[in-house]
Amino acid sequence: MIKKVSQHIVQEEPLVFELSSPGKRGYQLPELDVPAVDANAVLGSENVRGEISDFPEISEFEVVRHFTRLSTWNYAIDLGLYPLGSCTMKYNPRVNELVARTEGLAWAHPYQPDSLSQGCMEIVAALERALAEITGMDAVTLQPAAGAHGEFTGILMMRALLEKRGRARKKVLVPDSAHGTNPATASMVGYAVENIKSNERGMVDVEVLNRVMTEDVAGLMITNPNTVGVFEENIRKICGIIHDKGGLVYMDGANMNALVGIARPGEFGVDVMHLNLHKTFSTPHGGGGPGSGAVAVAKVLTPFLPSPRLKRDGEAWRWNYDLPDSIGRVRAYYGNFGVLVRALAYIMAHGGNGLRQATLDALLNANYLRVLLEPYYEIAYKAPSMHEAVFSDDRQAKKGVRTGDIAKRLIDYGFHPYTVSFPLIVRGALMIEPTETESKRELDLFIDAMISIAKEIEQNPELVLTAPHSTRTKRVDEVTAARKPVVRWTPKSNASQAAD
Ligand SMILES: *Cc1c(COP(=O)(O)O)cnc(C)c1O
Repeated sequence: MIKKVSQHIVQEEPLVFELSSPGKRGYQLPELDVPAVDANAVLGSENVRGEISDFPEISEFEVVRHFTRLSTWNYAIDLGLYPLGSCTMKYNPRVNELVARTEGLAWAHPYQPDSLSQGCMEIVAALERALAEITGMDAVTLQPAAGAHGEFTGILMMRALLEKRGRARKKVLVPDSAHGTNPATASMVGYAVENIKSNERGMVDVEVLNRVMTEDVAGLMITNPNTVGVFEENIRKICGIIHDKGGLVYMDGANMNALVGIARPGEFGVDVMHLNLHKTFSTPHGGGGPGSGAVAVAKVLTPFLPSPRLKRDGEAWRWNYDLPDSIGRVRAYYGNFGVLVRALAYIMAHGGNGLRQATLDALLNANYLRVLLEPYYEIAYKAPSMHEAVFSDDRQAKKGVRTGDIAKRLIDYGFHPYTVSFPLIVRGALMIEPTETESKRELDLFIDAMISIAKEIEQNPELVLTAPHSTRTKRVDEVTAARKPVVRWTPKSNASQAAD
């Protein structure tokens, strides 16, 4: 089998400034055949830009080649498997891009009057209905811009409901396996965070939960399946414990790729949850946005949904702002509309059976990968995987090789690394999510690479400790890169100034 080891087309590329040579131009205009205008007189000299020092002078063709060569240094889902656990980096069908770019949708303006936006409003309404059906909840808001923003919206609504009942309460419970955004959200809404320890199977410990759940606790933020890729089998009991003391259950639905079409959180007792439309429902998100953190709520929370809400007025839709209990707007306009269009196109094209099949394929791929890698890597919790598998570097650590080193070596095999060192409850975690869109051939190449690395560690750990070997940049100082990034090029003429 061909191993996927790859190298970049070019290993070095100067900055565009360094390619510059005086007098070169990327355009050629015919001679002026009308009287020249004095720009300073027309626009005012304060609005007219003078010469920019050290501005690159380069031909059109050189610009095109320069940026095309740079683009070959990127890794993308269009090149191969992107196994980042928790992120659901799946391939998103191109047809949904086509739908989102339909002229009437792409050019719609949020300030168009309702009478000219009925089609867009129907799309919003249809997506809200579809997501309510998928989650088993009563209503959905599409305003939040991403998952963390959805969490914020959800906990604000929880707080509003509890305040209405008389007391906002003080604390929110968060399992120690949670994504970092969960405690951050609770804290931003003004709650103290109480961590609850997972049991030896990576699940919420019901005994512990029983002890810490009091009438000072507003609720629980739980991820299901949780971040070790395991389904919380006591979820009904957990929700019962919270509800018995008057609290509410928030579910982080970032892992819905494991549940869509199979289980509905509304039926196991969840009161409010978010979905990452950019993870589960077909918006590419490698570049960091835009996304959508749709929030679904049970009936008790519907009066608190962000304003405005869609309302049917005879034959037409209109935006209703008359919502006395609403937490108000959480975002300008009505959400990231292009993302909503993609999600609805994806859901409608698949239908219920198609969505369910996608989930089953995601589970199959994760379990296939887990079973074949288990002889080589320590599985964190011995339970069937949902949509992702979490290993630890325990065996490799004995040779001095850690999860980050294995991830670097994976780059030499032509793959994007998996999620490194998360969740924090697994020492030296390797978190791998293949998603449903990978073929058996691609999975086998990945598994082959992982096994090959495990063998290298046995025979020659140095090879892995010094990886990557095929990239233009080898190991970087990640702490300095994160804390003191140099993101601005300094022209030579200013270099001495910058050094001061
Ligand atoms: C991705 C993710 C989030 C945050 O979502 P964003 O859209 O990145 O804000 C929260 N929780 C979990 C478990 C996630 O995987």
